[in-house]
Amino acid sequence: MLSLHGAGIGKEITIGTACVLSQDVVDTPEYRVPRSRIDDEIYRLRAAIAAARLQLIQIRQNIPAESPPEAAGFIEAHLMMLEDPMLSQAPEELISYQQINAEQAISMQSQSLIEVFEQMEDEYLSSRGDDIQQIAERIQRNLMGIEDVSSASLTEEFKDPVIVARDLAPADTMALKPSRIRAILTNLGGPISHSAILARSLGIPAVVGMHVATSYIQHGDKLIVDGRNGNVIVAPDEQTLKAYRQLRRSDREQARQLNAIKKSGSVSKDGVRVTLQANIEMPRDIRAALNANAAGIGLFRTEYLYMNRDNLPTENDHFNAYMRILRHLGKRPMTIRTLDLGSDKTIDGSLEAGSNPALGLRGIRLCLQRPALFIPQLRAILRASAHGQVRMMIPMLSSLNELHQVFDLINELKRSLRKEGTPYNSKIKIGGMVEVPAAAISADLFAPHLDFLSIGTNDLIQYALAIDRVDDEVNYLYNPLHPSVLRLIDMTVRAGDKAGIPVTMCGEMAGDVESLETLLGLGLRSLSMDPANMLEIKNLIRRTDISATRERTHRLLNGLH
Ligand code: PEP
Ligand code: MG
Repeated sequence: MLSLHGAGIGKEITIGTACVLSQDVVDTPEYRVPRSRIDDEIYRLRAAIAAARLQLIQIRQNIPAESPPEAAGFIEAHLMMLEDPMLSQAPEELISYQQINAEQAISMQSQSLIEVFEQMEDEYLSSRGDDIQQIAERIQRNLMGIEDVSSASLTEEFKDPVIVARDLAPADTMALKPSRIRAILTNLGGPISHSAILARSLGIPAVVGMHVATSYIQHGDKLIVDGRNGNVIVAPDEQTLKAYRQLRRSDREQARQLNAIKKSGSVSKDGVRVTLQANIEMPRDIRAALNANAAGIGLFRTEYLYMNRDNLPTENDHFNAYMRILRHLGKRPMTIRTLDLGSDKTIDGSLEAGSNPALGLRGIRLCLQRPALFIPQLRAILRASAHGQVRMMIPMLSSLNELHQVFDLINELKRSLRKEGTPYNSKIKIGGMVEVPAAAISADLFAPHLDFLSIGTNDLIQYALAIDRVDDEVNYLYNPLHPSVLRLIDMTVRAGDKAGIPVTMCGEMAGDVESLETLLGLGLRSLSMDPANMLEIKNLIRRTDISATRERTHRLLNGLH
């Protein structure tokens, strides 16, 4: 029995049998091509690329109708990359000028392209080098006559196949008949690699970035895959298997019970209603939010609109994305958080990080300095407000002056929309995020100017406890129930109450079962969270007597347990 680890995707435990993909291109041959054979070698390369194109087209044609749209999108992206002269023509030049064989030319060219991607600061773009690698390997496999995974009918061999591969391109996943795959394990990739994104939307548990999966796992090995924490147990003994089967049963039972309260009210034992909304990052996340019966979107992080592209999104790009969500929401509110770039969220190398990015030019500070980033988004939010319950939320506020500048800008844009005759909701609700201790401590000064406050505990905790949220070394100090954090929340809730405006919480703490009782005790009546946590939180609310939580909350505020 052996225990391996990686980044877990999905909330499930799976027990299955390892199907190790042996399509890896391990040793690519390298040899010199005589002048007289250069044309033949180029022809061989063209044939391998043409075969790759055909394979991808066939896989795209066979995608089951019920698959998520991303599946075809990823394959389409690979087809487009295949057409790019950097991949199709540059290697031909390498063959002619350096007299090297096609395999070597593809390796050299793909390596230099991957290096360019790797230097990009944005995590999403830098991981796009994986796509180049996957296409290059497909071409190599064709050159070397290695059977394509689609014809290997691998998943037929076992009843419960867990695919184990060095890497798994989206096209490979689709070729393997995803409905049969129980889980995916890969050496490469991270939580936002395309393989991971596709696994997530197909609902297949996965553990990616395992580094050594293909070295330690043998074809046919029994595996326990715990997508919740990224643990993989190879060849488990009977006792471990029994324990995990039991765990899986209770997980499934819990999921069934939680499903049963999906339509029930989010009301505490003593009759207090608590609004539960969803945090989303992309329009497609709306599906999960609706499945959990969220009362609305409490936080739409709009940064994704700026990522994976080499120009800024236009006003219409914003507007269309907002409309795609709004269409599904009916009367439920959608809270659009204006751009919060900077710190750990960057779009390209052009944003100067500064010596201390978390304390630097991020969120509203950046937007106020770069109107080209901000104005199209503000106009699009105002335009969308004519079509549904749109609310605007400003991140990273630390001084009232910022708020006044934002209002001046919004008023100016409202005037120009009015002049153009473009509809918008003149009473659009504008809220502020409380993520900087300064904003919490002076929440009573902010509240009278705003329609709502939303506490962003991810940043609030980082700043209050001076622990960089992306630094593993200080992670152990992360404590949402630290009295200082609770006092900041308490101040904010009270300031909101005094001004008569709602206070919500949209940081991770809002979906944390360990913190729920305290948050209710502090008076929070609105929480926004990852939809995956919503039913569990609702279940707990329904079992909580809020009036009985106040004493403990009071003790915690005073540093007692
Ligand atoms: C937060 O800081 O709690 C928050 C919700 O914003 P983000 O995690 O996007 O910084
Ligand atoms: Mg934040």
